[in-house]
Amino acid sequence: MLPTPRFFFNCLLCYVFLAGCQLSSSYTLSGYKWPQPDGLGTEIEVSYSFSNLLDGGFNTVLPNSELKEIVVEAFGLWSGVAPLAFVEVDSPVSHHYSNIEIGYRTFDPLYASAIAFYPASIDDALSGDIFFANNINDPYVWGKNTGVGDDPFELDVLEVLVHEIGHSLGLGHEFEADAIMNPTIGNRFSGSDTGYLLQDDIAGIQAIYGKRRSPQAVSDASLRGFAPVVLGLLFVVRRLARR
Ligand SMILES: [Zn+2]
Repeated sequence: MLPTPRFFFNCLLCYVFLAGCQLSSSYTLSGYKWPQPDGLGTEIEVSYSFSNLLDGGFNTVLPNSELKEIVVEAFGLWSGVAPLAFVEVDSPVSHHYSNIEIGYRTFDPLYASAIAFYPASIDDALSGDIFFANNINDPYVWGKNTGVGDDPFELDVLEVLVHEIGHSLGLGHEFEADAIMNPTIGNRFSGSDTGYLLQDDIAGIQAIYGKRRSPQAVSDASLRGFAPVVLGLLFVVRRLARR
């Protein structure tokens, strides 16, 4: 019996419970997934909403409009390779299989810069939810990681979110291959429209939900107007070490 998702609170604890994870070729599966009643490879709808991310209290240099674009892009990377349709909803709704809520909380960023919960149970209010670290007393802000001229502590919302969504969908950390699901940030992206998945991430998500058989429906609510995730990242430590 695996612990409830509440105990998969961040990557440090993930190490503790890794024995409960299923190790595949190199990606790691948590053993949890959103219900897929018609079987592997069939499309399921996963809803998401913003808890407090856009309420003005998030420690970011980005406007809400750009944050929303980044969220859509991050979900789209996963739905582009697996039969997942992400739909934004105003608030959690019971008829959806799930709801990934995205927001921030104040916790020690050296412990984890973000956390996400595995999709262990649709009855658990925290399942799938994502929280960015938001300690305004710390010397970093959430932004784009665009390089020269940026605040050296500006962290890329997109790269962290793509990683956390991987957890929210059931992926664990990747320790061997180069992957977005590595527990340390790779500083690979530089803001919106720069995101991508690596082969190991794709293999992992397709092991959970199957491959996308048909193109994404452009009519998806999550795609309209834009394009289309218990663990955290240790990248802050690495980031600080670079200074
Ligand atoms: Zn992680």
